[in-house]
Amino acid sequence: KNPKVADKTFTIGTDVTFPPFEFANDQNQYVGIDIDLLNAIAENQGFKVDVKPLGFNAAVQALDSGQIDGVIAGMSITNERKAKFDFSSPYFQSGVVMAVAKDSKVTKLTQLKGKKVAVKTGTAGADYANSIKAKYGFKTVTFDDSNNMYQDVETGNSVACFEDSPVMRYGIQQGTKLKIVTGPAEKGDYGFAVKKGVNADLLAAFNTGLANLKANGQYDKITAKYLGKDE
Ligand code: GLN
Repeated sequence: KNPKVADKTFTIGTDVTFPPFEFANDQNQYVGIDIDLLNAIAENQGFKVDVKPLGFNAAVQALDSGQIDGVIAGMSITNERKAKFDFSSPYFQSGVVMAVAKDSKVTKLTQLKGKKVAVKTGTAGADYANSIKAKYGFKTVTFDDSNNMYQDVETGNSVACFEDSPVMRYGIQQGTKLKIVTGPAEKGDYGFAVKKGVNADLLAAFNTGLANLKANGQYDKITAKYLGKDE
């Protein structure tokens, strides 16, 4: 046990649905790579967690305003966010891909001219879309969760969406009727976040626990449970 955090309970915000990182299973329990890692790290370091599926943007806002102690939500470590948050060691590589409907002929950014593109509030994917929309001449429609964003493309209201590559790949494997048409842009890593200058003990415990899980094989076991052995 880590004496600085032992027996303390930390409130951790997460996304509502971002499989394979966090999602409600058939028994309506929150599971996924983030949730399993967090629980295993908490057990390893002797602290307790109260996980709140607030939605991505709401979780980030709640952390910023000090209502919760940490966020684990497939949250990308970005320089912009480092101004407000302290991040753990990176625990998963990701990037932003463009996905379109299964029967769509759109494969390139240049085909988005005059069209609508679905994005998710407060995400790296939305920032990416906003940074290129003037150049490619598309408009964005925003959604608070990934499912509603995918549906907007499936129904044809938007021609494309921008989503994290591991999440989009997993969703398509599980039946989301979209296809990925671009390679990952804005490559980066996911990290666990606390508010800048606050909860340093929790952050240190997370890092120690993560390193222990990587060394003892539990990290690989958790990722393989959701992604299979090759990833
Ligand atoms: N990785 C993206 C980000 O940090 C999306 C996270 C999410 O949608 N849960 O902005």
